[in-house]
Amino acid sequence: MSAHTVAIIGAGMGGLAAGVYGQLAGVETTIFEMHDKPGGLCTAWTRKGYTFDGCIHHLAGCRSGTSTYRMWEELGAMPREVLYPADLTQVETPEGKALTIYTDLDRLEAHMLDLAPIDAPAIRRYVQALRTFTRFDLFDAMAGTWRDRGRLVRHAPTAMKWGRLTMRKFAERFKDPFLRQAMATVQYDWPDTPVMLHLGILAGSAAGRYGFPAGGSLRFAQAIADRYASLGGELHYGSRVEGILVKKGHAIGVRLADGTEHLTDSVISNATLHTTVQRLLGGDYLNDRLRATFARPQDEMVMGLHVSLGVARDLSGEPHAMVLWLPEPVKLADRSRDRLDLELFGFDPSLAPPGKGVLKLLLDTKWSYWAELGRDRDRYQAEKEHLVESVLRLLEPRFPGITGQVEVWDVATPLTTERYTGVGPGYVSSPQWGAMMLARPTTVPGVRGLQIVGQSVGGAGIPGCAVMGRNALRGS
Ligand SMILES: Cc1cc2nc3c(=O)[nH]c(=O)nc-3n(C[C@H](O)[C@H](O)[C@H](O)COP(=O)(O)OP(=O)(O)OC[C@H]3O[C@@H](n4cnc5c(N)ncnc54)[C@H](O)[C@@H]3O)c2cc1C
Repeated sequence: MSAHTVAIIGAGMGGLAAGVYGQLAGVETTIFEMHDKPGGLCTAWTRKGYTFDGCIHHLAGCRSGTSTYRMWEELGAMPREVLYPADLTQVETPEGKALTIYTDLDRLEAHMLDLAPIDAPAIRRYVQALRTFTRFDLFDAMAGTWRDRGRLVRHAPTAMKWGRLTMRKFAERFKDPFLRQAMATVQYDWPDTPVMLHLGILAGSAAGRYGFPAGGSLRFAQAIADRYASLGGELHYGSRVEGILVKKGHAIGVRLADGTEHLTDSVISNATLHTTVQRLLGGDYLNDRLRATFARPQDEMVMGLHVSLGVARDLSGEPHAMVLWLPEPVKLADRSRDRLDLELFGFDPSLAPPGKGVLKLLLDTKWSYWAELGRDRDRYQAEKEHLVESVLRLLEPRFPGITGQVEVWDVATPLTTERYTGVGPGYVSSPQWGAMMLARPTTVPGVRGLQIVGQSVGGAGIPGCAVMGRNALRGS
Protein backbone atom coordinates (compact mmCIF):
# COMPACT_ATOMS: atom_id res chain seq x y z
CA MET A 1 0.00 0.00 0.00
CA SER A 2 1.37 3.41 -0.83
CA ALA A 3 -0.17 6.24 1.16
CA HIS A 4 0.97 9.34 2.96
CA THR A 5 -1.89 9.77 5.38
CA VAL A 6 -3.83 6.93 6.93
CA ALA A 7 -6.81 6.93 9.27
CA ILE A 8 -6.80 3.95 11.62
CA ILE A 9 -10.07 2.94 13.26
CA GLY A 10 -9.41 1.49 16.72
CA ALA A 11 -6.42 1.20 19.04
CA GLY A 12 -6.55 -2.56 19.54
CA MET A 13 -3.42 -4.59 18.88
CA GLY A 14 -3.86 -4.45 15.11
CA GLY A 15 -4.54 -0.71 15.03
CA LEU A 16 -1.70 0.20 17.39
CA ALA A 17 0.82 -1.92 15.47
CA ALA A 18 -0.31 -0.44 12.16
CA GLY A 19 0.17 3.00 13.67
CA VAL A 20 3.68 2.36 14.97
CA TYR A 21 4.90 0.68 11.80
CA GLY A 22 3.26 3.37 9.70
CA GLN A 23 5.06 6.12 11.62
CA LEU A 24 8.33 4.20 11.28
CA ALA A 25 7.77 4.01 7.53
CA GLY A 26 7.18 7.76 7.26
CA VAL A 27 3.41 7.52 6.86
CA GLU A 28 1.32 10.08 8.72
CA THR A 29 -1.19 8.06 10.70
CA THR A 30 -4.04 9.03 13.01
CA ILE A 31 -5.81 6.52 15.25
CA PHE A 32 -9.44 7.10 16.25
CA GLU A 33 -10.40 5.06 19.32
CA MET A 34 -13.93 5.15 20.72
CA HIS A 35 -12.85 4.13 24.25
CA ASP A 36 -10.64 6.17 26.59
CA LYS A 37 -7.89 3.55 26.67
CA PRO A 38 -5.75 1.67 24.18
CA GLY A 39 -5.66 -2.12 23.82
CA GLY A 40 -9.19 -3.20 22.86
CA LEU A 41 -9.58 -6.77 24.15
CA CYS A 42 -6.03 -6.61 25.53
CA THR A 43 -7.20 -4.75 28.58
CA ALA A 44 -7.62 -4.60 32.35
CA TRP A 45 -9.66 -2.51 34.76
CA THR A 46 -9.00 -1.28 38.27
CA ARG A 47 -11.41 -1.49 41.20
CA LYS A 48 -10.52 -0.38 44.75
CA GLY A 49 -6.80 -0.98 44.30
CA TYR A 50 -7.21 -4.32 42.49
CA THR A 51 -6.41 -4.76 38.81
CA PHE A 52 -8.73 -7.20 37.03
CA ASP A 53 -7.03 -8.44 33.90
CA GLY A 54 -9.35 -9.18 31.00
CA CYS A 55 -6.96 -10.86 28.67
CA ILE A 56 -3.46 -12.32 28.84
CA HIS A 57 -2.94 -15.88 29.99
CA HIS A 58 0.16 -16.38 27.88
CA LEU A 59 1.96 -13.82 25.81
CA ALA A 60 4.18 -15.09 23.01
CA GLY A 61 7.51 -13.48 22.24
CA CYS A 62 8.82 -12.97 25.77
CA ARG A 63 12.30 -14.32 25.05
CA SER A 64 14.83 -12.13 23.31
CA GLY A 65 16.16 -13.49 20.05
CA THR A 66 12.74 -14.61 18.78
CA SER A 67 11.02 -12.88 15.86
CA THR A 68 8.02 -11.97 18.02
CA TYR A 69 10.28 -10.42 20.67
CA ARG A 70 11.91 -8.30 17.97
CA MET A 71 8.47 -7.06 16.95
CA TRP A 72 7.59 -6.22 20.58
CA GLU A 73 10.86 -4.27 20.79
CA GLU A 74 9.97 -2.29 17.69
CA LEU A 75 6.52 -1.67 19.14
CA GLY A 76 8.00 -0.46 22.43
CA ALA A 77 6.45 -3.29 24.47
CA MET A 78 9.72 -5.06 25.26
CA PRO A 79 12.05 -5.20 27.13
CA ARG A 80 9.92 -5.30 30.26
CA GLU A 81 9.57 -7.46 33.35
CA VAL A 82 8.03 -10.80 32.43
CA LEU A 83 6.68 -13.28 34.96
CA TYR A 84 6.87 -17.03 34.46
CA PRO A 85 4.41 -18.89 36.71
CA ALA A 86 5.59 -22.37 37.68
CA ASP A 87 2.47 -24.03 36.28
CA LEU A 88 0.24 -23.88 33.25
CA THR A 89 -2.71 -24.99 35.34
CA GLN A 90 -3.76 -27.34 38.13
CA VAL A 91 -6.73 -29.68 37.84
CA GLU A 92 -8.38 -30.60 41.14
CA THR A 93 -11.22 -32.94 42.05
CA PRO A 94 -13.53 -32.64 45.07
CA GLU A 95 -11.85 -35.79 46.42
CA GLY A 96 -8.57 -33.88 46.62
CA LYS A 97 -6.78 -35.33 43.58
CA ALA A 98 -4.59 -32.78 41.83
CA LEU A 99 -2.67 -32.75 38.57
CA THR A 100 -0.30 -29.81 38.19
CA ILE A 101 0.98 -29.06 34.72
CA TYR A 102 4.37 -27.67 35.69
CA THR A 103 6.31 -25.66 33.16
CA ASP A 104 9.48 -27.37 34.39
CA LEU A 105 9.27 -30.49 32.24
CA ASP A 106 11.40 -32.74 34.49
CA ARG A 107 9.18 -31.83 37.42
CA LEU A 108 6.08 -32.42 35.31
CA GLU A 109 7.27 -35.87 34.25
CA ALA A 110 8.12 -36.92 37.81
CA HIS A 111 4.76 -35.61 39.11
CA MET A 112 2.72 -37.38 36.44
CA LEU A 113 4.62 -40.66 36.88
CA ASP A 114 3.98 -40.43 40.58
CA LEU A 115 0.27 -39.83 40.01
CA ALA A 116 -0.26 -42.56 37.43
CA PRO A 117 2.60 -45.07 37.09
CA ILE A 118 0.31 -47.18 34.92
CA ASP A 119 0.57 -44.47 32.27
CA ALA A 120 4.37 -44.31 32.22
CA PRO A 121 4.69 -44.92 28.44
CA ALA A 122 2.05 -42.27 27.54
CA ILE A 123 3.52 -39.78 30.02
CA ARG A 124 7.03 -40.25 28.63
CA ARG A 125 5.78 -39.75 25.06
CA TYR A 126 3.93 -36.60 26.13
CA VAL A 127 6.92 -35.08 27.88
CA GLN A 128 9.18 -36.10 25.01
CA ALA A 129 6.86 -34.26 22.60
CA LEU A 130 7.04 -31.21 24.86
CA ARG A 131 10.83 -31.33 24.81
CA THR A 132 10.75 -31.47 21.01
CA PHE A 133 8.41 -28.47 20.92
CA THR A 134 10.82 -26.45 23.11
CA ARG A 135 13.19 -26.44 20.13
CA PHE A 136 10.87 -24.60 17.75
CA ASP A 137 7.89 -22.27 17.81
CA LEU A 138 5.54 -22.42 14.87
CA PHE A 139 3.70 -19.32 16.01
CA ASP A 140 6.92 -17.30 16.12
CA ALA A 141 7.12 -17.72 12.36
CA MET A 142 4.12 -15.37 12.06
CA ALA A 143 6.28 -12.45 13.10
CA GLY A 144 9.32 -13.67 11.18
CA THR A 145 10.54 -13.53 7.61
CA TRP A 146 10.08 -16.11 4.87
CA ARG A 147 13.53 -17.38 5.81
CA ASP A 148 12.40 -17.94 9.40
CA ARG A 149 9.37 -19.80 8.09
CA GLY A 150 11.58 -21.86 5.82
CA ARG A 151 13.67 -22.96 8.80
CA LEU A 152 10.53 -24.33 10.42
CA VAL A 153 9.56 -26.53 7.49
CA ARG A 154 11.51 -29.46 8.89
CA HIS A 155 9.27 -29.40 11.98
CA ALA A 156 6.09 -29.49 9.91
CA PRO A 157 5.61 -33.29 10.17
CA THR A 158 5.80 -33.13 13.99
CA ALA A 159 3.34 -30.25 14.05
CA MET A 160 0.95 -31.98 11.63
CA LYS A 161 1.02 -35.14 13.73
CA TRP A 162 -0.22 -33.26 16.78
CA GLY A 163 -2.29 -30.72 14.84
CA ARG A 164 -4.90 -33.33 13.95
CA LEU A 165 -5.38 -34.62 17.49
CA THR A 166 -7.72 -32.83 19.91
CA MET A 167 -7.08 -32.56 23.64
CA ARG A 168 -10.12 -34.78 24.20
CA LYS A 169 -8.79 -37.56 21.99
CA PHE A 170 -5.32 -37.14 23.44
CA ALA A 171 -6.65 -37.62 26.97
CA GLU A 172 -8.06 -41.00 25.95
CA ARG A 173 -4.48 -42.27 25.63
CA PHE A 174 -4.19 -42.31 29.42
CA LYS A 175 -5.46 -45.33 31.37
CA ASP A 176 -5.67 -43.73 34.80
CA PRO A 177 -9.27 -42.41 35.16
CA PHE A 178 -8.17 -39.12 36.72
CA LEU A 179 -5.59 -38.39 34.02
CA ARG A 180 -8.14 -39.27 31.31
CA GLN A 181 -10.52 -36.76 32.82
CA ALA A 182 -7.96 -34.09 33.61
CA MET A 183 -5.78 -34.03 30.50
CA ALA A 184 -8.66 -32.98 28.23
CA THR A 185 -8.98 -29.73 30.19
CA VAL A 186 -5.42 -28.58 30.83
CA GLN A 187 -5.26 -26.10 27.94
CA TYR A 188 -7.75 -23.37 28.85
CA ASP A 189 -10.30 -26.16 29.30
CA TRP A 190 -10.71 -26.37 25.53
CA PRO A 191 -11.11 -30.13 24.96
CA ASP A 192 -11.63 -29.65 21.22
CA THR A 193 -8.52 -27.63 20.58
CA PRO A 194 -5.59 -29.32 18.79
CA VAL A 195 -2.94 -30.73 21.12
CA MET A 196 -0.45 -28.79 19.03
CA LEU A 197 -1.62 -25.53 20.61
CA HIS A 198 -1.12 -26.99 24.08
CA LEU A 199 2.32 -28.36 23.25
CA GLY A 200 3.32 -25.03 21.71
CA ILE A 201 2.22 -22.99 24.75
CA LEU A 202 3.51 -25.35 27.45
CA ALA A 203 6.83 -25.99 25.71
CA GLY A 204 7.06 -22.27 24.94
CA SER A 205 6.52 -21.54 28.63
CA ALA A 206 9.19 -24.09 29.55
CA ALA A 207 11.58 -22.36 27.15
CA GLY A 208 10.76 -18.85 28.42
CA ARG A 209 9.13 -17.77 25.17
CA TYR A 210 5.66 -17.45 26.73
CA GLY A 211 5.11 -15.45 29.90
CA PHE A 212 2.96 -12.83 31.55
CA PRO A 213 4.00 -9.19 31.24
CA ALA A 214 4.17 -7.81 34.80
CA GLY A 215 1.35 -5.35 35.40
CA GLY A 216 -0.91 -7.12 32.91
CA SER A 217 -2.60 -6.55 29.59
CA LEU A 218 -3.46 -2.86 29.73
CA ARG A 219 0.03 -1.86 30.80
CA PHE A 220 1.37 -3.88 27.87
CA ALA A 221 -0.97 -2.16 25.40
CA GLN A 222 -0.23 1.24 26.94
CA ALA A 223 3.49 0.78 26.22
CA ILE A 224 2.69 0.42 22.51
CA ALA A 225 0.42 3.47 22.60
CA ASP A 226 3.27 5.41 24.25
CA ARG A 227 5.69 4.30 21.55
CA TYR A 228 3.18 5.42 18.92
CA ALA A 229 2.94 8.86 20.52
CA SER A 230 6.73 9.11 20.76
CA LEU A 231 6.91 8.58 17.00
CA GLY A 232 4.56 11.50 16.41
CA GLY A 233 1.42 9.43 15.93
CA GLU A 234 -1.90 11.01 16.92
CA LEU A 235 -4.27 8.88 18.98
CA HIS A 236 -7.69 10.40 19.61
CA TYR A 237 -9.63 8.75 22.42
CA GLY A 238 -13.38 9.09 22.78
CA SER A 239 -13.56 9.21 18.97
CA ARG A 240 -16.07 6.74 17.62
CA VAL A 241 -15.94 6.32 13.86
CA GLU A 242 -19.43 6.18 12.36
CA GLY A 243 -18.58 5.87 8.70
CA ILE A 244 -15.82 5.21 6.20
CA LEU A 245 -15.86 7.79 3.40
CA VAL A 246 -15.63 6.24 -0.05
CA LYS A 247 -15.20 8.19 -3.27
CA LYS A 248 -15.08 6.52 -6.67
CA GLY A 249 -14.44 3.18 -5.01
CA HIS A 250 -11.57 4.43 -2.84
CA ALA A 251 -11.59 4.91 0.95
CA ILE A 252 -10.72 8.54 1.50
CA GLY A 253 -11.23 9.01 5.23
CA VAL A 254 -13.58 8.59 8.16
CA ARG A 255 -16.58 10.31 9.69
CA LEU A 256 -16.76 10.50 13.47
CA ALA A 257 -19.84 10.33 15.68
CA ASP A 258 -19.69 14.10 16.18
CA GLY A 259 -20.02 14.55 12.41
CA THR A 260 -16.46 15.68 11.72
CA GLU A 261 -14.77 14.18 8.70
CA HIS A 262 -11.08 13.35 8.43
CA LEU A 263 -9.78 12.98 4.91
CA THR A 264 -6.81 10.69 4.33
CA ASP A 265 -5.23 8.73 1.49
CA SER A 266 -6.40 5.42 2.91
CA VAL A 267 -8.04 3.73 5.89
CA ILE A 268 -7.20 0.78 8.13
CA SER A 269 -10.00 -0.63 10.25
CA ASN A 270 -9.30 -2.50 13.49
CA ALA A 271 -13.04 -2.68 14.15
CA THR A 272 -14.48 -6.11 13.42
CA LEU A 273 -15.20 -7.26 9.89
CA HIS A 274 -18.92 -7.09 10.66
CA THR A 275 -18.76 -3.54 12.08
CA THR A 276 -16.57 -2.36 9.21
CA VAL A 277 -18.69 -3.77 6.41
CA GLN A 278 -22.18 -3.51 7.85
CA ARG A 279 -21.97 -0.30 9.85
CA LEU A 280 -19.03 1.78 8.71
CA LEU A 281 -19.59 1.04 5.01
CA GLY A 282 -23.36 0.97 5.45
CA GLY A 283 -23.71 -2.54 4.01
CA ASP A 284 -23.04 -1.18 0.50
CA TYR A 285 -20.24 -3.59 -0.36
CA LEU A 286 -21.68 -6.91 0.70
CA ASN A 287 -20.97 -9.84 -1.56
CA ASP A 288 -22.30 -13.40 -1.31
CA ARG A 289 -19.41 -14.58 0.86
CA LEU A 290 -19.85 -11.75 3.38
CA ARG A 291 -23.64 -12.14 3.34
CA ALA A 292 -23.24 -15.83 4.13
CA THR A 293 -20.81 -15.05 6.96
CA PHE A 294 -23.04 -12.43 8.52
CA ALA A 295 -26.08 -14.66 8.22
CA ARG A 296 -24.57 -16.93 10.87
CA PRO A 297 -23.77 -14.84 13.94
CA GLN A 298 -22.14 -16.99 16.58
CA ASP A 299 -24.01 -16.96 19.88
CA GLU A 300 -21.41 -18.83 21.90
CA MET A 301 -18.91 -16.47 23.51
CA VAL A 302 -15.84 -18.43 24.55
CA MET A 303 -14.42 -16.97 27.80
CA GLY A 304 -17.15 -14.37 27.43
CA LEU A 305 -18.04 -14.04 31.11
CA HIS A 306 -15.49 -12.84 33.70
CA VAL A 307 -16.22 -13.00 37.42
CA SER A 308 -13.35 -11.15 39.11
CA LEU A 309 -12.80 -11.06 42.86
CA GLY A 310 -10.44 -8.83 44.82
CA VAL A 311 -9.79 -10.73 48.05
CA ALA A 312 -7.96 -9.97 51.28
CA ARG A 313 -6.12 -13.26 50.95
CA ASP A 314 -2.57 -14.12 49.95
CA LEU A 315 -2.77 -16.08 46.69
CA SER A 316 0.97 -16.14 46.02
CA GLY A 317 1.24 -19.83 46.93
CA GLU A 318 -1.63 -20.89 44.68
CA PRO A 319 -1.31 -22.21 41.12
CA HIS A 320 -1.63 -19.64 38.34
CA ALA A 321 -4.73 -21.31 36.91
CA MET A 322 -7.06 -24.06 38.04
CA VAL A 323 -9.73 -26.36 36.73
CA LEU A 324 -11.81 -27.07 39.80
CA TRP A 325 -14.16 -30.03 39.36
CA LEU A 326 -17.37 -29.69 41.34
CA PRO A 327 -19.02 -32.45 43.42
CA GLU A 328 -22.08 -32.07 41.23
CA PRO A 329 -23.16 -29.89 38.30
CA VAL A 330 -24.43 -26.43 39.19
CA LYS A 331 -26.24 -23.91 37.02
CA LEU A 332 -24.24 -20.72 36.56
CA ALA A 333 -25.67 -18.09 34.23
CA ASP A 334 -26.98 -19.79 31.09
CA ARG A 335 -25.96 -23.39 31.71
CA SER A 336 -25.07 -26.19 34.03
CA ARG A 337 -21.33 -26.50 34.85
CA ASP A 338 -19.39 -29.38 36.33
CA ARG A 339 -16.12 -27.45 36.77
CA LEU A 340 -14.77 -23.95 37.27
CA ASP A 341 -11.93 -22.45 35.24
CA LEU A 342 -10.03 -20.10 37.49
CA GLU A 343 -7.16 -17.71 37.04
CA LEU A 344 -5.28 -16.76 40.20
CA PHE A 345 -3.02 -13.74 39.87
CA GLY A 346 -0.97 -14.23 43.06
CA PHE A 347 2.15 -14.52 40.89
CA ASP A 348 1.95 -10.79 40.02
CA PRO A 349 1.94 -8.74 43.23
CA SER A 350 1.42 -5.51 41.28
CA LEU A 351 -2.21 -6.47 40.60
CA ALA A 352 -3.42 -6.26 44.22
CA PRO A 353 -2.63 -4.42 47.45
CA PRO A 354 0.16 -6.08 49.51
CA GLY A 355 -0.80 -9.50 50.90
CA LYS A 356 -4.05 -9.58 48.88
CA GLY A 357 -4.94 -11.16 45.59
CA VAL A 358 -7.12 -11.38 42.49
CA LEU A 359 -9.03 -14.48 41.50
CA LYS A 360 -11.05 -14.70 38.33
CA LEU A 361 -13.55 -17.22 37.02
CA LEU A 362 -13.86 -17.40 33.24
CA LEU A 363 -17.00 -18.91 31.75
CA ASP A 364 -18.21 -19.59 28.25
CA THR A 365 -21.63 -18.11 27.79
CA LYS A 366 -24.29 -17.27 25.25
CA TRP A 367 -24.61 -13.78 23.86
CA SER A 368 -28.37 -14.09 23.57
CA TYR A 369 -28.74 -14.90 27.28
CA TRP A 370 -27.14 -11.60 28.31
CA ALA A 371 -28.70 -9.63 25.48
CA GLU A 372 -32.13 -10.66 26.76
CA LEU A 373 -31.25 -9.83 30.39
CA GLY A 374 -29.70 -6.54 29.29
CA ARG A 375 -33.16 -5.24 28.31
CA ASP A 376 -33.97 -4.95 32.01
CA ARG A 377 -31.17 -3.32 34.02
CA ASP A 378 -32.49 -4.61 37.35
CA ARG A 379 -32.64 -8.22 36.20
CA TYR A 380 -29.23 -7.90 34.57
CA GLN A 381 -27.70 -6.56 37.79
CA ALA A 382 -29.51 -9.15 39.93
CA GLU A 383 -28.16 -11.95 37.73
CA LYS A 384 -24.62 -10.65 38.23
CA GLU A 385 -25.08 -10.57 42.00
CA HIS A 386 -26.62 -14.04 42.02
CA LEU A 387 -23.70 -15.31 39.95
CA VAL A 388 -21.13 -13.97 42.41
CA GLU A 389 -22.99 -15.49 45.39
CA SER A 390 -23.17 -18.88 43.66
CA VAL A 391 -19.51 -18.76 42.70
CA LEU A 392 -18.44 -17.93 46.23
CA ARG A 393 -20.46 -20.84 47.59
CA LEU A 394 -18.66 -23.15 45.16
CA LEU A 395 -15.25 -21.72 46.03
CA GLU A 396 -15.67 -21.98 49.81
CA PRO A 397 -14.66 -25.66 50.18
CA ARG A 398 -11.39 -25.03 48.32
CA PHE A 399 -10.76 -21.52 49.69
CA PRO A 400 -12.32 -21.56 53.18
CA GLY A 401 -13.39 -18.11 54.35
CA ILE A 402 -13.12 -16.50 50.93
CA THR A 403 -16.64 -15.07 51.04
CA GLY A 404 -15.72 -12.85 53.97
CA GLN A 405 -12.48 -11.83 52.28
CA VAL A 406 -14.03 -10.34 49.15
CA GLU A 407 -13.30 -6.60 49.09
CA VAL A 408 -14.59 -5.98 45.59
CA TRP A 409 -16.14 -7.99 42.79
CA ASP A 410 -16.82 -7.35 39.15
CA VAL A 411 -18.76 -9.25 36.52
CA ALA A 412 -17.99 -8.48 32.88
CA THR A 413 -20.52 -9.99 30.48
CA PRO A 414 -20.43 -10.12 26.68
CA LEU A 415 -22.41 -6.86 26.75
CA THR A 416 -19.60 -5.24 28.76
CA THR A 417 -17.04 -6.41 26.23
CA GLU A 418 -19.05 -5.07 23.34
CA ARG A 419 -19.54 -1.72 25.04
CA TYR A 420 -15.83 -1.29 25.61
CA THR A 421 -14.30 -2.90 22.51
CA GLY A 422 -17.00 -3.13 19.86
CA VAL A 423 -16.45 -6.91 19.76
CA GLY A 424 -19.96 -8.30 19.88
CA PRO A 425 -21.54 -11.58 18.87
CA GLY A 426 -19.04 -13.42 16.73
CA TYR A 427 -19.54 -14.42 13.15
CA VAL A 428 -18.63 -17.94 12.22
CA SER A 429 -15.43 -17.89 10.27
CA SER A 430 -12.98 -20.70 9.92
CA PRO A 431 -9.54 -19.18 9.90
CA GLN A 432 -7.09 -21.42 8.09
CA TRP A 433 -3.69 -22.17 9.62
CA GLY A 434 -1.93 -20.87 6.50
CA ALA A 435 -3.83 -17.56 6.44
CA MET A 436 -3.28 -17.15 10.18
CA MET A 437 0.46 -17.64 9.83
CA LEU A 438 0.69 -15.12 6.98
CA ALA A 439 -1.42 -12.61 8.96
CA ARG A 440 -2.58 -10.75 5.87
CA PRO A 441 -5.05 -7.89 6.31
CA THR A 442 -8.43 -8.38 4.66
CA THR A 443 -9.80 -6.14 1.92
CA VAL A 444 -13.39 -5.45 0.92
CA PRO A 445 -14.25 -6.08 -2.71
CA GLY A 446 -15.15 -2.79 -4.40
CA VAL A 447 -13.27 -0.56 -1.95
CA ARG A 448 -9.64 0.26 -2.66
CA GLY A 449 -7.44 1.76 0.05
CA LEU A 450 -9.20 -0.03 2.91
CA GLN A 451 -7.67 -2.84 4.95
CA ILE A 452 -9.16 -4.64 7.93
CA VAL A 453 -6.85 -6.01 10.62
CA GLY A 454 -7.40 -7.95 13.84
CA GLN A 455 -8.88 -11.06 15.33
CA SER A 456 -12.14 -10.92 13.38
CA VAL A 457 -10.22 -11.44 10.13
CA GLY A 458 -7.98 -14.24 11.38
CA GLY A 459 -5.44 -12.46 13.60
CA ALA A 460 -4.11 -15.12 15.97
CA GLY A 461 -4.10 -13.65 19.47
CA ILE A 462 -2.19 -10.58 20.53
CA PRO A 463 0.95 -11.21 18.44
CA GLY A 464 -1.02 -12.35 15.40
CA CYS A 465 -3.13 -9.17 15.38
CA ALA A 466 -0.02 -7.04 15.85
CA VAL A 467 1.71 -8.78 12.93
CA MET A 468 -1.35 -8.16 10.77
CA GLY A 469 -1.29 -4.47 11.70
CA ARG A 470 2.41 -4.40 10.87
CA ASN A 471 1.77 -6.06 7.53
CA ALA A 472 -0.80 -3.41 6.65
CA LEU A 473 1.71 -0.58 6.74
CA ARG A 474 5.29 -1.66 7.16
CA GLY A 475 7.49 -0.33 4.42
CA SER A 476 4.67 1.35 2.51
C1 LIG B 1 -10.62 -13.49 27.69
C2 LIG B 1 -9.57 -13.39 26.61
C3 LIG B 1 -8.31 -13.92 26.84
C4 LIG B 1 -7.32 -13.82 25.86
N1 LIG B 1 -6.09 -14.33 26.14
C5 LIG B 1 -5.10 -14.17 25.24
C6 LIG B 1 -3.78 -14.62 25.55
O1 LIG B 1 -3.51 -15.15 26.63
N2 LIG B 1 -2.81 -14.45 24.60
C7 LIG B 1 -3.07 -13.88 23.38
O2 LIG B 1 -2.14 -13.74 22.56
N3 LIG B 1 -4.32 -13.45 23.06
C8 LIG B 1 -5.33 -13.59 23.96
N4 LIG B 1 -6.59 -13.16 23.66
C9 LIG B 1 -6.88 -12.66 22.30
C10 LIG B 1 -6.43 -11.21 22.11
O3 LIG B 1 -6.87 -10.43 23.18
C11 LIG B 1 -7.01 -10.67 20.81
O4 LIG B 1 -6.72 -11.56 19.75
C12 LIG B 1 -6.46 -9.31 20.42
O5 LIG B 1 -6.27 -8.47 21.53
C13 LIG B 1 -7.45 -8.67 19.43
O6 LIG B 1 -6.90 -7.52 18.86
P1 LIG B 1 -7.56 -6.81 17.63
O7 LIG B 1 -6.46 -6.23 16.79
O8 LIG B 1 -8.53 -7.71 16.95
O9 LIG B 1 -8.33 -5.55 18.24
P2 LIG B 1 -9.52 -5.47 19.30
O10 LIG B 1 -9.07 -5.96 20.60
O11 LIG B 1 -10.77 -6.03 18.73
O12 LIG B 1 -9.68 -3.89 19.43
C14 LIG B 1 -10.39 -3.13 18.50
C15 LIG B 1 -10.37 -1.69 18.94
O13 LIG B 1 -11.13 -0.91 18.01
C16 LIG B 1 -11.95 0.00 18.72
N5 LIG B 1 -13.12 0.28 17.88
C17 LIG B 1 -14.03 -0.61 17.41
N6 LIG B 1 -14.95 0.02 16.67
C18 LIG B 1 -14.62 1.33 16.65
C19 LIG B 1 -15.19 2.49 16.05
N7 LIG B 1 -16.30 2.43 15.32
N8 LIG B 1 -14.57 3.69 16.25
C20 LIG B 1 -13.44 3.78 17.00
N9 LIG B 1 -12.87 2.71 17.61
C21 LIG B 1 -13.45 1.50 17.43
C22 LIG B 1 -12.30 -0.75 20.00
O14 LIG B 1 -12.70 0.13 21.03
C23 LIG B 1 -10.99 -1.46 20.30
O15 LIG B 1 -10.14 -0.67 21.09
C24 LIG B 1 -7.60 -13.22 24.62
C25 LIG B 1 -8.86 -12.67 24.38
C26 LIG B 1 -9.83 -12.74 25.36
C27 LIG B 1 -11.17 -12.12 25.10
